[in-house]
Amino acid sequence: MNRETYIGLIDCNNFFVSCECVFDPKLRGRPVGILSNNDGCFIARSDELKALGVAMGAPYFQVKNIVDKHQVIVRSANFSLYSDMSRRVMSILKKAFPRVEIYSIDEAFIHFNALSREEIFEESKAIREKLYKWLGIPVSVGVAKTKTLSKVACRVVKKNKELRSVYLLDNQDDIESVLKGCKAGDIWGIGRQRAKFLESRGIETAYEFLNLDEGWVKQNLSINGLRTLLELKGVSCLELEDVAKNNKSILRSRSFSRPLTDMEDVAQAIAYHVSCVGEALREQNSVTFSIGVFIRTNMHSLGPQYHESVVEYFVEATDYTPDLLAAARAGLEKIFKLGYRYHKAGVFCDHIVPKKGSQLDLFKAQENLVQKDKRMEIMDEITAKYGNKSLFYASIGSNNIWQSKRQRVSPGYTTNWCELKGVR
Ligand SMILES: [Mg+2]
Repeated sequence: MNRETYIGLIDCNNFFVSCECVFDPKLRGRPVGILSNNDGCFIARSDELKALGVAMGAPYFQVKNIVDKHQVIVRSANFSLYSDMSRRVMSILKKAFPRVEIYSIDEAFIHFNALSREEIFEESKAIREKLYKWLGIPVSVGVAKTKTLSKVACRVVKKNKELRSVYLLDNQDDIESVLKGCKAGDIWGIGRQRAKFLESRGIETAYEFLNLDEGWVKQNLSINGLRTLLELKGVSCLELEDVAKNNKSILRSRSFSRPLTDMEDVAQAIAYHVSCVGEALREQNSVTFSIGVFIRTNMHSLGPQYHESVVEYFVEATDYTPDLLAAARAGLEKIFKLGYRYHKAGVFCDHIVPKKGSQLDLFKAQENLVQKDKRMEIMDEITAKYGNKSLFYASIGSNNIWQSKRQRVSPGYTTNWCELKGVR
């Protein structure tokens, strides 16, 4: 891997609000808020609404007086519009850059064609202008040597209007001074738990974190903590799947026991991971608006390399495995290319919302949903009782050609009736 290349983070500004503004330009420059399903709380705000002190996630009824007083424009979330606009943003990015890693509905990492830092800066400005001209969507661009630093650069951009939405953070002095102004917990991948721990050791700023001993970080914050530290030092070591793990998303992935070249074999692995994601969603009573798929070759082996990801969106958030399977399959067909030896595949979903009160698609009958729930409940009950080989989706297949070698695995003593420990 070339560690000297630059990575950019493209982040659509107030994305849902921006999508609404495209089709209703009167909204520009006004306080605008988008409400979650059931019109419960604010999930997107224009800058003008932020300035009025309405927080992300604020329940509508609690800020009703502000809404009335300042004539705030309030809209219900229109996910089919947002996901369609997202698809357009991403396809423009994919045409412009050699590698694009879609991270969420409104964020993607880009890898540049250009080599010199001046050209990279120009490319960043150009893509920003293009997205605004072609789609009406304003974006912020943070560029650095690693994903974690590009996230930091993007934060800086958003706070400093004079940067005009593009910031290239690669000078050591700048990096240090920016990190001095950041809390450790604000660094992407550190998370609340780790931030608390660091604070208990007297480490508050990201700069203090940067100066910690690598061995200590690995010991106390695991390998993921160390990766974050290395990324802040400019050593690129996060793959998209590490990124998804760091977020509040669900990710399931595994390396294959041997390289796969056939799409149907890869599809079976994907289907297996999707069924696990479906179970995880139902277990935590949540539904997802999107499912992402990634495939890649082994970067440490010789031969042609390929990695690609895609995110498919649902108009109606779902936890119904057959719907997840169909979307993941469609995604895989878009990114799969013949002629590569695939080493790993996985699926992930972000945009997870609680199932209770999630948006219903008006064009689909309610009954249908109840039936789907019932079907999943039965499926989950059977697999919980008899193990996950008792009943599975046809698309997973039964030859398990992709599965890692697990010949030495101990029986499912507590999870599978057939493998209960015998007592004589
Ligand atoms: Mg955004």
